[in-house]
Formats: sequence, C-alpha cells, structure tokens
Amino acid sequence: MKHHQVVIIGGGPAGAACAGRLVGAGADLLLLDKSSFPRKKTCAGWITPQVLSDLNLDPSEYPYSLSKYQALRIFLKGIPILWPGDQYAIRRIEFDDWLLKRSGAAVKQHHVRRITRENGRYILDDAFSADYLVGAGGTHCPVYHALFREEHPRTGSRIAALEAEFSYEWKDGKPRLWFFDRGLAGYAWYLPKVDGYLNIGLGGDVRVLKKSGRTIQEHWGFLLEKLRGKGLISGPIPDPDGYVYHLRGPGAAYRIDNAFLVGDAAGLASLDMGEGIGPALESGQLAAEAILHQHPYTLESVSQFSLLPGWLGWLVAGKAGASPRIPTVYSRKHRDT
Ligand SMILES: Cc1cc2nc3c(=O)[nH]c(=O)nc-3n(C[C@H](O)[C@H](O)[C@H](O)COP(=O)(O)OP(=O)(O)OC[C@H]3O[C@@H](n4cnc5c(N)ncnc54)[C@H](O)[C@@H]3O)c2cc1C
Repeated sequence: MKHHQVVIIGGGPAGAACAGRLVGAGADLLLLDKSSFPRKKTCAGWITPQVLSDLNLDPSEYPYSLSKYQALRIFLKGIPILWPGDQYAIRRIEFDDWLLKRSGAAVKQHHVRRITRENGRYILDDAFSADYLVGAGGTHCPVYHALFREEHPRTGSRIAALEAEFSYEWKDGKPRLWFFDRGLAGYAWYLPKVDGYLNIGLGGDVRVLKKSGRTIQEHWGFLLEKLRGKGLISGPIPDPDGYVYHLRGPGAAYRIDNAFLVGDAAGLASLDMGEGIGPALESGQLAAEAILHQHPYTLESVSQFSLLPGWLGWLVAGKAGASPRIPTVYSRKHRDT
C-alpha cells in the first residue's frame, strides 16, 4: 500500500486548488480521480472576477476559451434588470484540465469506493493510505459518504440542474438569466460563449420542485420553448446532462479529525446563484492552509453570495419572498428578451 501525507479525492476546482497550494509548499500528495482528464463536467462555466483573483489569473493569460460579458440580463419574473459589471465564462472541459495540470499534483485515475481509518491513517480501497484526506469528489464524494454523512449531513438546499453545452453559431451574444419562471425556485440561463459554443440550462430547489408537481425535464421543455420563441435557438438541441448539488447550509461540519470536505463535497454553492466554482477554489485553498500550518479550517471568509444581494439568494433558495429593490431597470423595449 502506498502512503502519502495527503490524498485528495477529486480533481475538479476544489481538489486542484487544494493540490496547487500543497504542492507549492512541498507536501507529499496524491490526487485520485475516477475520470481521466480532460473530463466533462455538467456546469454553465460562469465565473466571477473573484474567481480570476482567487486564481491570480490575468484573463489575457488564460490559454483556452474565456468569454467576457459587460453585463448580465436578468429577468425576475419577467421584470428586466441589467446587472452591470464584468463577468466571465470558461468551458469546464478545458478549465478543469488546465487547473489540474497547473496544480502540479501527481494524479492517478482511480475510483475510490471504500474508506476506513486505522491507527490514525486513512485507508482507501486497501491501495492507498494518508495522514490527511481531502474530500473534493463533488456531491457523491466518498469522503462525505464514509465519514460525514451519518453524523453531519449537509444542511443546504438541494438543487437539481440540467445543462447542455454545444457548438452553435449564436447570433445574440448577450447572456440572460430568467428567475422563477413557471414556479421554478431558481433560474434558467442562456450563455453564449466565444469560439462558437452555447450553454443553456436551469436549476432549482428540489423540494419546491417536488411540491410544484413539475419535473425539471418539464422546465427544460419550457426553456427550449422560450429560447425558440425569442429566436435565440433553432434546430435540434442536444439532450441535457443533469446533476444535483447543495447550496451552502447552516452549521455544517467540514472537518473531522484530519479529513476535510471542500467544494461540492461540502455543499458550498452560493445562495443567490448556485455558483460553486469560486467556493470550491477558496475552500480548497483554505483546507491546504489548514493542513500546512495547522490552522483551524473555517469557511467564514468564503462568501455565501456571489452576485446578488442577500434577499435574492433567499428567493432563489425558495425560502423568502421579500420585495426586491432593483438596481437598474433598462428601457421597456428590451423587456423580457
Ligand atoms: C448544471 C450546473 C450548472 C452550474 N453552473 C455553474 C456556474 O456557471 N458557475 C459556477 O461557479 N458553478 C456552477 N455550478 C456548480 C459547479 O459546477 C460546482 O459547484 C463545482 O464544479 C464544484 O467543484 P468541485 O471541485 O467541488 O467538484 P467537481 O467539479 O464535481 O469535481 C469532483 C471530481 O471528483 C471526482 N470523483 C467523484 N467521486 C469520485 C470517487 N469516488 N473517486 C475518485 N474521484 C471521484 C469526479 O470525477 C470529479 O472530477 C453548476 C452546477 C450544475 C450542476
């Protein structure tokens, strides 16, 4: 059995960010991922300027597709809001591979199925052992299932999401988000990307969805209808991929002994937008700091909101119905496009 100081399970943004910090400090680590990279990840790929700053990345230095938007067009139950400020999008198939390579970590393709602890060491499938274990395996992370779930289940809302990214010669390059359409406790998006890709999708609170009696697939049908009606798409559209993940919840446990949860494994997506890439990177880096310097692992510095003020986050989570203050309503002729 091969022993390492640290084993990270999962090579997405959380695992790669954690690995990058640890490798930079000379730690002996191995990163295991069940997939071979580059791998597909169900995700719109929207990233905030904060993500670029967390990565210490000048946009001009990113070697793959990076779309830049000067504003987001948000529709809140049909009310248009122009949300100004630079936003970005990457393609996850490129971004995650780039990030993992940049981390410098030794990576092995291995699907971790069994985790035990013996004499202070974590044993994985009787093949690897480690003093520290980082669970970066997303919603179905084996570290969460083996060590946390029973006593410390995730507490945040579960979001069901569908997404498709495909090569498409879009005519309209303005990103749009539609919140709460037809009772969806969440939002749908149209995200045109550079180099001829389009990402469309939607996500909403699972409990509210169940109560509404509508399935996420029905909402997908509504989205396609809307996009076709507005002339934003035409022709055949590939079937979407689905995934369920968790928004940040109160009082969750992220560390037990020397086992850490980061990113989606911890359930950290933001309350307003379900953005998980930023919290994945930040939590990965914080876990590395905790391992290297024996710091407490707290996620207080990881913001619960990524774009919108708190009231909208609670609306998205289907928990409140505060009357919104709208920052910039743009002219009526742009309504609901
Ligand atoms: C439809 C959709 C759209 C989204 N859009 C956005 C967006 O636009 N912007 C944003 O910021 N966030 C978005 N998110 C959320 C974002 O995708 C996640 O929060 C983010 O990917 C979390 O990163 P992570 O590193 O924690 O996990 P992941 O990126 O899921 O990586 C986990 C890795 O663990 C590996 N793994 C899992 N189990 C095992 C195992 N047993 N053994 C070995 N390896 C394993 C997997 O192969 C995977 O590579 C979206 C999510 C969905 C579902």
